[in-house]
This record gives sequence, structure tokens and C-alpha cells, in this order.
Amino acid sequence: MPELPEVETVRRVLKEDLINRKIDNIIIRYDGIIEDDINYFLNNIKGKTILDILRRGKYLIFKLNEGYLLSHLRMEGKYFYLKRNELDNKHIHVIFNLDNGFDLLYQDVRKFGKMSYKKDDELYNTHPLKDLGYDPILDLNPDYKELYKKLNKKLIPIKSTLLDQTIITGLGNIYVDEVLFESKINPERKTKDISFDEFISICNSSKHILEEAIKNKGTTIRSYTSSLGVIGNYQNFLNVHTKNICPRCKIALNRVKINGRMTYYCNNCQR
Ligand SMILES: [Zn+2]
Repeated sequence: MPELPEVETVRRVLKEDLINRKIDNIIIRYDGIIEDDINYFLNNIKGKTILDILRRGKYLIFKLNEGYLLSHLRMEGKYFYLKRNELDNKHIHVIFNLDNGFDLLYQDVRKFGKMSYKKDDELYNTHPLKDLGYDPILDLNPDYKELYKKLNKKLIPIKSTLLDQTIITGLGNIYVDEVLFESKINPERKTKDISFDEFISICNSSKHILEEAIKNKGTTIRSYTSSLGVIGNYQNFLNVHTKNICPRCKIALNRVKINGRMTYYCNNCQR
């Protein structure tokens, strides 16, 4: 599943090709990807020009000359930028015909990805972006005290809280494990028991780990590889996720399921 660094990498690569490209036509083969009424989506995006590509959390945001195309890749979503008719398969669900004879293809084997159109004044004021928490790469001066208040009373494990995107956004299963290892916090701890200092440590580790992962163009692990010819290398720097031995104290790592997601941590160094 692409997390913040992989989405950021896709954003940077797509941006090189798509700026100032006009979307002449859109072919939707599987309606389930589109969260809007299909005609509303088509009418608002057809004929628009892509002015920029932004990101918040794990969302890609195509800034159009009017409004935005919001895209979430979920488990397996991928974009291809190719000459028209160069590629086709049954997993390509949305095709954007561009004004230069190229297409932006959206492929999604699992079909969990989502797209929607947002008006200029809706983007950050409506679901889903309004519900996202602190983005460790974009938000330079977060109000840590306000964010910390959201931890209050939550009985679920800290790992589950970090996966839900409303306090910190951009972390998924891989990077949450790495962040909690670096900040020496047991992923099974109840969220409400995390101290303010520990929360700051989680925020700092999130920023540091996501920055390093972006430098390495993300993680290429199991199912998710970028479609754009970019191979991430951060898998070579993972400390605990998918590993057997703690790199700090050399004991065997624990493997447990939290929220149904395989979680790796050291019972000795993470308290
Ligand atoms: Zn350890």
C-alpha cells in the first residue's frame, strides 16, 4: 500500500509530465472508483487544464484551472503516463486523454482507489481533507498541544490511532512500525496513555522517517511498486517492519496483528 513517501514520489514524477496539459476527454470503465455522480465528475473535469499536482497525507491533488481532482490510490492504485493506445489491460479503470496525444491511465487491481472532483472552496473544508491530521512534511509549525488533545480518552492502541490519519496523516502500516521503533513506544500501548513528550517524539520521528523515505523514493515492498519507472529504496533502511531481529538490542522482534495489520516491534526497547 502506498504511504506518504510513495505518493509524494508519484506526485513528483507525474508533475514533470502533466503541468499545463489539458484533459480533452475521460473514459471511466469502472464507476466504483469515482465517488461523485459520474456526470458531475465528467462535466467538471473534461476540458480543464492541470496547473499543479499537490499532496496532503496520502491524497494526490490535481489542481485544475477551476477546482481539483482528488485521488487516493488505496492498496494498489497506479498511474501510467503513456502515448495513446500504448497500454491496455482489464485493470485500467479510468483514462484521461490529454491534449498532446498521451494518456494518463489509472490502473487498480483491487479497485479500492477513489477519485472525486472538488470545487476551489471545497477542497480543504469538506471530507476527506478536512478530517486529516498533521502532515509531517507539509506542516512546519503544527499546534502540538491541540493535536495531543485528540489522544485523550482513546482506548485503542497507539498504532491504530496513527493509522487512522486524523492526528498524523501519511503513515501506513510500514512507517507506523518504523516511527514507533524510533520513538521507543510499544504499538500496543493505549493511545490515552501516551505522554506529551512521547507524542512529540512520535511527531519528530514521523517527520524524520518520512523525509528519509522520500529521499529514497519510498519503499518497494511486496505488492506495491510504482508504475512510473521509479523504484523506491527505503526497504533497505527499514529497522523493524518485516524484520526478525531488533537492530538495537539484537533480540527477536515481536509480531502481532493490530487492526488486522501485521505489526513488528521490540518488546525490550519499545515501552
Ligand atoms: Zn530492541
